[in-house]
Amino acid sequence: MVLAQLGGTISRALQQMSNATIIDEKVLNDCLNEITRALLQSDVQFNLVRDMQKNIKKIVNLDDLAAGHNKRKIIQQAIFNELCKILDPGKPSFTPKKGKTSVIMFVGLQGSGKTTTCTKYAFYHQKKGWKPALVCADTFRAGAFDQLKQNATKAKIPFYGRFSCIPLFVEIDLSCNSYTESDPVRIAVEGVERFKKENCDLIIVDTSGRHKQEAALFEEMRQVSEATKPDLVIFVMDSSIGQAAFDQAQAFKQSVAVGAVIITKMDGHAKGGGALSARAREVEFEQWGRIWSWEKVLVSCISSVASDYGDVHKDDSHNQVAATKSPVIFIGTGEHMDEFEVFDVKPFVSRLLGMGDWSGFMDKIQEVVPMDQQPELLQKLSEGNFTLRIMYEQFQNILKMGPIGQVKCIPIIYIYIYIIIFDVSAQEHLEKVFSMLPGFSQELMPKGREKESQAKIKRYMTMMDSMTNEELDSSNPKLMNESRIMRIARGCGRPVRDVMEMLEEYKRLAKIWSKMKGLKIPKKGEMSALSRNMNA
Ligand code: GDP
Repeated sequence: MVLAQLGGTISRALQQMSNATIIDEKVLNDCLNEITRALLQSDVQFNLVRDMQKNIKKIVNLDDLAAGHNKRKIIQQAIFNELCKILDPGKPSFTPKKGKTSVIMFVGLQGSGKTTTCTKYAFYHQKKGWKPALVCADTFRAGAFDQLKQNATKAKIPFYGRFSCIPLFVEIDLSCNSYTESDPVRIAVEGVERFKKENCDLIIVDTSGRHKQEAALFEEMRQVSEATKPDLVIFVMDSSIGQAAFDQAQAFKQSVAVGAVIITKMDGHAKGGGALSARAREVEFEQWGRIWSWEKVLVSCISSVASDYGDVHKDDSHNQVAATKSPVIFIGTGEHMDEFEVFDVKPFVSRLLGMGDWSGFMDKIQEVVPMDQQPELLQKLSEGNFTLRIMYEQFQNILKMGPIGQVKCIPIIYIYIYIIIFDVSAQEHLEKVFSMLPGFSQELMPKGREKESQAKIKRYMTMMDSMTNEELDSSNPKLMNESRIMRIARGCGRPVRDVMEMLEEYKRLAKIWSKMKGLKIPKKGEMSALSRNMNA
C-alpha cells in the first residue's frame, strides 16, 4: 500500500467513525480493524500493530467514558499518539552542541547515500552557524574522496582525505589534504585531530560502504570507531530497499554503537502535506524478485528501524525494547544538498493523515520570510488591498522556498488566509484551501508538473516586470485596459493572451484577499504558537 493510500485509508476510517451517530464497541472495532489492515498491508510489523490496537482499546474504554466526553476526539487522539509511538523511537544517543567539538561517524551500505548525506548533514548545520568539517575515511571505493571533495567544495566545508587518483600531497583551499595513505583508520584519526585543532564543532567521518557479509570491512569500521571515538554513529539507510535493509542494519548495530539513523531517498515517498498525495510509483527491485513500491516500504522502514531494525519484539512490552531503538533523525529527500529534512514524528504522522505539517511550514517560512518583516504586508492584507505588487512579492517567496511541489513552500500569507478564513481546527478544509491558492491551483500547479509551474510563475513575474508602478500598486482591476495590456505584452515579448491569463490569476487571488478585510493582525510570536497548537 502506498503511503498516500495508507494515510487516506486511516483518515477514511477515522472519518467513518466520526460520522457514526453513536460511538459504540462495534464502531470502534470497525475503525481499528480498518487501520490495522492498512498498516499490515504497508508491512508494519504485526507485533507493533497488535500492540497499537491493544493500547488504543486500553485508553479508549467506552464503558468508562462518561456521557459528555468527546469520544471521537479521544479515539482520534489515541490513534494519532499510537501511530506516533510506532514511528517514534525516542531520542538519539547523543545530540551534538554548537561550539563544542563532536565527532560523528557515518556508516551504511555502499550506495545508500552515505557520502551525499555526510555533506547534507554538514551543510544543514553550517547554515545554522556551526563549523563542520568532513573527513573521508572511505579508501575502499574508488572516487569516494573525489565525490566528498566535490560536494564539500561546493558547500565551502573543509575536508580531509585521500585522492583516489593523484598520489601527491596537495594543499588546497578549505584545508583539503591529498594523501597517499590508504589506511582508513589513520586517515580518520589524522582528519579528526586536525579539525579538532581548528576548533570545528562538528567533525563528520565518512566510512566505506559495506555489506553484511564483508567481515573485513566491518572490522575496519570497528577500528575506525575505536580510534576516533565518535560521539555519535549514524547509520545511513536507503528507504527503497525496504525490509531487506534490516538484517544489514542489525549487522551494523552489532559492530558499532549506532545511535541514530538517517533514511535517504525519500523523494516521492513522503506525502508532503495535506493536499498533495504521493505519487503511486511502482519500482521493481529485481534482487528480491518482487515488486516493491517506494511508498510502501517507507512506513515499514521507519517503524522497523524504530523497533530495533525489525527485530521481533522480544517480549510484549513496548518500553522494554525502547532502550535498543535507533531514532530516525533526518530524511534525505533528493540528490541536492538542501534536500534534507529533520525527521519529526508528529509532523510526519500529521502529513501521513493529511493534516498538514504546520511546524515544517513555519520553520521553512521563517527561514525565508522572517515573520517580523511581514507587518506591512499584513497591514495591506487587513485593508483588503491586493495589488499586483503583493502578488509579485508572494511569487518571489514561493520561488525562494524551493520546490513548489512541496506543501511547505506555501508563503506565510497563504497560511494566514487559511487560519483566518477557516477554523484552524477544521483540518479537512485544508485541501479546499490549497486548491484555492496560487501554486496549488490546478492551473498553476498540476501535480507532478512542478517545474512547469515554477516556469509559469517566473513568466508571470517577467510580465509584471513590464508594468508601471501605478499598475503594480493599484488594486483597481479596471485600470488594466486594452492598451495597457498590449503595452505589457510588447514589453515582455509575450502574447496578449498570456498577460490576460496572468491578470485572471490576479483577479482570482484578489477575490480571496478581499475576504481578509478587517482581519485581526497577529502579534509577534502568535503565529508560531498557533502552528504548535495545530500540530499538538
Ligand atoms: P554511498 O556509496 O553510500 O556513499 O552513496 P552516495 O552518497 O554516493 O549516493 C549514491 C547515490 O544516491 C548518488 O547518486 C546520490 O546522488 C544518491 N542519493 C543520495 N541521497 C539521496 C536522496 O535522498 N535522494 C535521491 N534521489 N538520491 C540520493
